[in-house]
Formats: sequence, C-alpha cells, structure tokens
Amino acid sequence: MTKVKAFAAPSEGAPLVATIVDRRDVGPDDVQFDVLFCGICHSDIHTVRGEWGKQTYPLSPGHELAGKVTAVGKNVTKFKIGDHVGVGCLVNSCLNCEPCKTGHEQFCQNGAIFTYGSTDRDGTVTQGGYTQSAVINHNFVVSIPKNLPLDAAAPLLCAGSTLWAPLKRWNAGPGKKVAIIGFGGLGHVGLKLAKAMGAEVTVLSHSDKKKEDALKMGAFAFHKMDKAAFDSLKENFDLILNTVSVTVDTAGYYELLKFDGAFVVIGADPTPTVSLSTSVGVSKQRVFTLSLISGVQETQDMLNFCGEHNVLPEIEVIPASYINEAFDRVVASDVRYRFVIDNSTM
Ligand SMILES: [Zn+2]
Ligand SMILES: [Zn+2]
Repeated sequence: MTKVKAFAAPSEGAPLVATIVDRRDVGPDDVQFDVLFCGICHSDIHTVRGEWGKQTYPLSPGHELAGKVTAVGKNVTKFKIGDHVGVGCLVNSCLNCEPCKTGHEQFCQNGAIFTYGSTDRDGTVTQGGYTQSAVINHNFVVSIPKNLPLDAAAPLLCAGSTLWAPLKRWNAGPGKKVAIIGFGGLGHVGLKLAKAMGAEVTVLSHSDKKKEDALKMGAFAFHKMDKAAFDSLKENFDLILNTVSVTVDTAGYYELLKFDGAFVVIGADPTPTVSLSTSVGVSKQRVFTLSLISGVQETQDMLNFCGEHNVLPEIEVIPASYINEAFDRVVASDVRYRFVIDNSTM
C-alpha cells in the first residue's frame, strides 16, 4: 500500500477536505501514474452528497484523470514510464462476458467497477481522481495523445466519452443534422466533437446566455426553445442528444426528429420521466434511447480523434482548495465549461 494525498468527503453531504488515501501496490497488470489533473463532473457531486445512493466514506470522487505513468507491472506492454495516460469512469470489469468482449465494459454482465465508490473485486472501495497518484489495471487505462495538454484533455475522459458513443453509434458526420440540448460541460464537448466529425450542429437551450459561445465554437445555429422555435424546427434533425439533467419537454423535442431519427438521453437525470405517444414514434420510425459513457476502446478512439482534430474542452483550472466552491458553482451552472483540478496543489 502507498499513502497518497487526496481530497475526499469524510461523510455524506460534508465538504471535501485534504486527506490521505491508500493505493494498492503495483500488480503485474497495473499501471501507476501521477494524477496531474482531474476534471470535476456533476456526477462527483451527486455521488459524494449521497444523492445517488449510500456511499462508503471517506470518498474521493473524480473520473476524469489525466497524468503521467510512474510504474508498470510486468504484464503491461502498452505503457511505459513517462507516457501521458488517462482513466475515465471504469476501472475494472470481468472482460469475459459479451458486452466486455465487444468493447462495452460499462455494460459488463458481471458488474462494471466504476472509478470511485464501487466495491472492486478485491473487496476495496474504489477511490477516484481527486488524488495525486493512482494504480489502475492496464485494460482500463488509455493513452492521451502528446499534442493534447493534460489539463484540457482531462474532461474528455468522462464528458468526451459520454458524447462520443452516441455520436458514433448514430453516425454523426457530413450531411447529418445534430441537435444538442443543453450547453454545459457535456453539451459544449458534444458540439466540438460532432462539428469535427463533419455534422451540422445546432444547440437548443432554455436561455440565450451561451449563444455567442456556441456560435464561436462552431454551432450552425442556436435556439432558445420557446413555442415558435419548437414549431419552426419540426422534423429537422437526424439526431438529438439531451445532455441536461432536469426534466425537459421530451415529447416536444421528439417532434423535431426527422423520419428514422434518434433521440438519445445522456444527461444524468436521476428521475427520468418520459411520456411519448407511441403513434408519433412508430409513424416516423423514430428511436428513443439512452446512452452510458463509452467502452475503453471507444474512449481511446475518441482521444485519438481529439488529438487529430485538436478537439479540447473549455476549462477553468483550479487549486484543490477551491473544490467545494467549484461544486457549488457546478450546481448553479456557473462554469464555462468544466472545472479541472490541478492535483499538484493538494
Ligand atoms: Zn462524469
Ligand atoms: Zn463483463
């Protein structure tokens, strides 16, 4: 065991404090790396505050880890000391079931192990990336292309992977019209990815506040959604991604899909409510579905794509002492567009 500096919640709802967490010794299949930066995802806040169920404390959240390799186990050939690496939402799975074998470890039939707050196969509770160092099985570590700065690349590990999977699955690309509902940490990465894929991307929002930003980042159009907007955009999009975590007019948005289009929910609404008339869906052959992050290979593909196309999230780098204030600002949607912790300040 190694003791490493961390920020963690000592109990449910308590502010995060500086502390020490244990990291296991480097096993034959492990990669040890210095976590230089970690993004703050809204899920971190929901989890440590107990809003998504009971947790074991102290708990250090964070599933957007970016850093440099410091040691590798004897079976590890893909990584060497000094490599730029990342870890997203997953740190273990069975690797044998059908979802695992087809690169969808997040849907492991024997239980995917998430980066923090999950009970790993050795019985320990996983600790996330608000720590200065991590030891992770190499099958769940990805390479970060050298041309991407590690601080801005960090949010790609969750936000990027969350948007990548549905954009790929529903063939976002030239000739496709993609709409993104919500323009926050997830939405702005979705815009940049879909735009780089060659799609025409429209942002749909409840307010005009971020219109200028969205257009600057390459949006084809930005609509504040009122009745006139819903009417004017009927049957307009091939793909709509809902990134917001509050209840939206799903039935209204569904009408904005073309024949055969897909509506994908990726926001983390803990109580999703959907009321759709089947006749609307069936008559236009539209799809309604959900998406949960990317598998490991998909995450690597996404990072390689971001390296090639220079896709980077907009970030605000903060010292660890600012984490609790940053949490409050994330909850208040007061961030453009992702906080990233400089872990050297712990
Ligand atoms: Zn996340
Ligand atoms: Zn599995």
